[in-house]
Amino acid sequence: MCGRFWNIQFPFLHSRFKTNWYSIMKPISIFNFHGMPSQIFEPLVSLSLLRIHLQRSSFCSAAAMEWRIGLNIPSANQLINAFSSYCYQRDLDKAMKALDFMQKHRIWADSVTYAELIKCCIARGAIIQGKQVHQHVFSNGYEPKTFLINTLVNMYVKFNMLDEAQALFDQMPERNVVSWTTMIAAYSNSEFSQKALEMLIQMLRDGVRPNMYTYSSVLRACKGSCNLAQVHCSIIKVGLESDVFVRSALIDIYSKWGELQAALCVFNEMVTGDLVVWNSIIGGFAQNSDGDEALNLFKRMKSFGFCADQSTLTSVLRACTSLALLELGRQVHVHVIKFDQDLVLNNALLDMYCKCGSLHDANCTFNRMVEKDVISWSTMIIGFAQNGYSRKALELFKAMRVSGTKPNYITILGVMFACSHAGLVEDGQYYFRSMKKLFGIDPGREHYGCMVDLLGRAGKLEEAMKLIHEMDCEPDAVIWRTLLGACGVHRNMDLAECAAKQILKLDPDDAGTYILLSNIYANSQRWKDVAQVRGSMRDGGIKKEPGCSWIEINKQIHAFILGDKSHPQIDEISSKLNQVIWRLKEMGYVPDTNFVLQDLEGEQSESSLLYHSEKLAIMFGMVSLPKKKTIRIRKNLRICGDCHVFAKLLAKMENRCIVIRDPIRYHHFHDGACSCGDYW
Ligand SMILES: [Zn+2]
Ligand SMILES: [Zn+2]
Repeated sequence: MCGRFWNIQFPFLHSRFKTNWYSIMKPISIFNFHGMPSQIFEPLVSLSLLRIHLQRSSFCSAAAMEWRIGLNIPSANQLINAFSSYCYQRDLDKAMKALDFMQKHRIWADSVTYAELIKCCIARGAIIQGKQVHQHVFSNGYEPKTFLINTLVNMYVKFNMLDEAQALFDQMPERNVVSWTTMIAAYSNSEFSQKALEMLIQMLRDGVRPNMYTYSSVLRACKGSCNLAQVHCSIIKVGLESDVFVRSALIDIYSKWGELQAALCVFNEMVTGDLVVWNSIIGGFAQNSDGDEALNLFKRMKSFGFCADQSTLTSVLRACTSLALLELGRQVHVHVIKFDQDLVLNNALLDMYCKCGSLHDANCTFNRMVEKDVISWSTMIIGFAQNGYSRKALELFKAMRVSGTKPNYITILGVMFACSHAGLVEDGQYYFRSMKKLFGIDPGREHYGCMVDLLGRAGKLEEAMKLIHEMDCEPDAVIWRTLLGACGVHRNMDLAECAAKQILKLDPDDAGTYILLSNIYANSQRWKDVAQVRGSMRDGGIKKEPGCSWIEINKQIHAFILGDKSHPQIDEISSKLNQVIWRLKEMGYVPDTNFVLQDLEGEQSESSLLYHSEKLAIMFGMVSLPKKKTIRIRKNLRICGDCHVFAKLLAKMENRCIVIRDPIRYHHFHDGACSCGDYW
């Protein structure tokens, strides 16, 4: 550093010095090309001359010279002034040169200025310079203030150098709440949660009172409810339980661990309302897929006179998304317009429209967004892919690459999903094989799952099996289920048995697998095997969750379960269904009795097949909605083949769109066909 300072920045000075160093004291202005004000630069020159002198003669004579020219004290002040202005201007190079100089001459600036310089080092990621500042403020017996050491500890944390931060923290003669909180937050953010909790205990033993920032970091470090209860106790002891941020952090963490009742207790203890806390509790329920309660709380919040902000609306949109409440989501959209430029909120809106199967609205939202990030692009690509618009998804991916946005793990998943859906085996394989090279992303379990789906759909079952064996990670039940599904379509009995065994090893109570396997046997008239599978299901007490379908009418959700007659209009719905079946039968609809055996809803008679929950929900949509309006259903299980045929024919007969969202994909029924291409 020192050598560069002299040799590069002052070559002219150096050469002049060789002839007559004293003469250089006068023509100061020639150094203005360094951008230093001449009156500040003057002492620098004097000191630099001394430094050169130092290199050439003994220290004593240099000191004597310094003394003789009488620049020591005024130059120190001016040097500090110059140093400060560089620090505040965030001119790292010049500040470091000045620092080097100060170091040589045992001059120190004030702590605030150093802190400014450290902030500049953090912003630039300048680790070497940051370490130099650290050395400087501890050199020659100088004792930096606690606040300055805290800033240095924070710098190491920001550089992700936790060992250095801890070492410096350990050396501190005095530690205050900021010192402790910096370390606790560092460990918490780096997932060293145990360490963060230990630090809290040490802190309390040291007699330092934690503040809201300490607790919000500690709470984030809590892994599981046991730790959480202890930290909650400590918060009450310290008397911070009514602090808005602590309360909101407590609600967030209880929600994160799925303890919504505990979160609700903390929320209900709140005496004075606060938007932050409302947002936490609404967000908690929305994230735990309890959209109903999230929306109830949202209504309560509004009745208390609070105005929703971006965070509230994002959560409410999430709730609408999980419930597939398109109409309510549209209403929220009206509020979103107030925050038109908010990226996170727009992404939530986009996701809501995609998940509610309203691609037109999603596309409009996407096109209107001024700022788009990788999440916006990925959401739209996946939206197109899952809703059966593969070409559009792939076109959008091309546009994304042109825009310069770097795809991530999820984007590639959407692209592969689109390829798989459109039967583009080669394209899918290309992206899978080259994702690492093209985008620097290692294929994960989900990408393998997509490939298995792609190959399975194309009937390349052996290849799919081979791929599963090549996986870096252990295949999970989802991947085996994908293979099992493909085996069913392509009637490969041996592989189906193998896949089913693997699933039941990983998830022994998976009723869906038993049923899928028995269906596959039934399709090949292997009744003995069917009976055996049914028998082991019965013996194991394994029951399938009942099929349930939901439909939103006038912002109300109506649920339909097979055999459940609790809906107030069930008689009207049933008679409508009977009429429709008669009319469809005239058009050539034959209830596919194969699916009685397939029995995805848990009953085994033809009449039960006719009353599958989605059929009831569709009928309710027909009697309740205006004639041309799209009927949108959400379902907890995969749609059975009979309901699929039924919906296709009905869409044609009634000339209206029907959208069914099952746990995996969307079926857009229109004019006698489905967007899934009859593969699901
Ligand atoms: Zn069905
Ligand atoms: Zn379909």
